[in-house]
Amino acid sequence: MLVVQKYGGTSVGSVERIKEVAKRVAKRKESGDDIVVVVSAMSGETNKLLKLAGEFSQNPKKREMDLLLSSGERVTSALLAIALTEMGYESTALSGRQAGIVTNKKHTQARIEHINIKSMERELGDGKIVVVAGFQGITEVGEVSTLGRGGSDLSAVAIAGALNADICEIYTDVDGIYTTDPRIEPKAKKLDRISYDEMLELASLGAKVLQTRSVELAKKLSVNLVTRSSFNDNEGTYILKEEDIMEKPLVSGIVIDKDQARVTLRGVSDKPGIAAEIFRKLASEGINVDMIIQNVGVDGSTNLGFTIHQDELDMTRDAMEAIGASQSVEFDKNIVKVSVVGVGMKSHSGVACTAFDTLADESINIEMISTSEIKVSMIINEKYGELAVRALHDAYKLDR
Ligand code: ADP
Ligand code: ASP
Ligand code: MG
Repeated sequence: MLVVQKYGGTSVGSVERIKEVAKRVAKRKESGDDIVVVVSAMSGETNKLLKLAGEFSQNPKKREMDLLLSSGERVTSALLAIALTEMGYESTALSGRQAGIVTNKKHTQARIEHINIKSMERELGDGKIVVVAGFQGITEVGEVSTLGRGGSDLSAVAIAGALNADICEIYTDVDGIYTTDPRIEPKAKKLDRISYDEMLELASLGAKVLQTRSVELAKKLSVNLVTRSSFNDNEGTYILKEEDIMEKPLVSGIVIDKDQARVTLRGVSDKPGIAAEIFRKLASEGINVDMIIQNVGVDGSTNLGFTIHQDELDMTRDAMEAIGASQSVEFDKNIVKVSVVGVGMKSHSGVACTAFDTLADESINIEMISTSEIKVSMIINEKYGELAVRALHDAYKLDR
């Protein structure tokens, strides 16, 4: 069997942890499997590097940021290979470049275009354990690129797909995918199985446990994916096709996204083409807009609100200035997005009402709402974010 294992930041967060991971990998090798290990940087390392760059510039070039940030993963890959070799297991560490991971040129948010699997295959053919630095690749012209925050998940899934691995195991610091972040609601329940689509929704709404693009790719390539803990041997959560899952709960989880910011434009002229101008500008700057709300206009003008990722706040401010809207714009970082997700919602009404009632009972004001077939999202004051998560978890009886 060919296995791709990915270990996240906390799993390789110290010398002891890297030794533990080496033992886990060695045990699997002993069982006769071929193994490619993908590692993240040690926990906190990527943030440390970001902060370090911030000491020199508020707006560093993305090319240099990639060279800087990719170093964290290279450190862990080399250390793990050294540890394995010392234990008597032949092992080779590969950077993204050496592993043949070719991406487009979008520095800090690159997409994997293809993987040249020759070097990984050669090492595996020699019976070695291959350890790949996650989160990175190279462009066609040989520039180092990174895959966006949480991108080691994507490295693992892409490698599993390219090598046609039997399974891709994502090792992290919780036992699997829960009905909500178990650090916020200790009563959260671990799911044995979840569909790609529900997982995609949880991830894209802000559950950091798997990077959104990794789930997208796993679905596209039908990669067998399991999320489990590197701290114990408990069964994890399998991510499968919807048709392979029997139970279809109405609501499968609650997600909180604390990285959102709201932008409000006041006194926007209420005439055709204005929204198009604003959102065209944001799109041309590559800024992702999430929820949008426009009030009913009074006296020829209206207010327009939308949410963005906090990291894109400065870019948004510049964009609004460029189209002459800067006098009337307000930014609010003190909000969170709380979402209720479930494929079962498709065929049931009243799911959204329960969410609104629940927040009303807690006297939490809902500032924006958006819904789709399988989710309800609400923007609320960040002060009440975790309270809302617990109240909703209770309301949908997710602890049963
Ligand atoms: P890693 O460093 O291993 O990539 P992450 O920090 O990216 O780990 O993701 C794991 C974290 O995701 C958990 O510690 C947990 O707090 C958080 N999380 C958020 N939502 C969920 C959920 N629904 N199920 C499990 N974990 C979740
Ligand atoms: N080290 C990177 C990050 O912190 C990538 C990853 O851990 O997956 O975002
Ligand atoms: Mg992660």
